[in-house]
Amino acid sequence: MIKRGKHVCPVARCSVLVPNRLLMCPRHWSLVPHRLKREVWKHYVPGQEDTGYQTEAYNAAACAARDAAQAAEESKR
Ligand SMILES: [Zn+2]
Repeated sequence: MIKRGKHVCPVARCSVLVPNRLLMCPRHWSLVPHRLKREVWKHYVPGQEDTGYQTEAYNAAACAARDAAQAAEESKR
């Protein structure tokens, strides 16, 4: 069950619940290159998890970060 204010980590096969203000679980976030983390935070708008509004730039950065975490995860298999 999804608790209010939380979402499931977007990386495939990960089922960790994370607070909405965080993009993914801490373990996967740790796999994201610094450059991409900076992009995500640069475009993060405080409170966007409440309004549901995310900029295109944020979405693009979030996608890139998720893809990077996913790729890092798969390279370990
Ligand atoms: Zn995860």
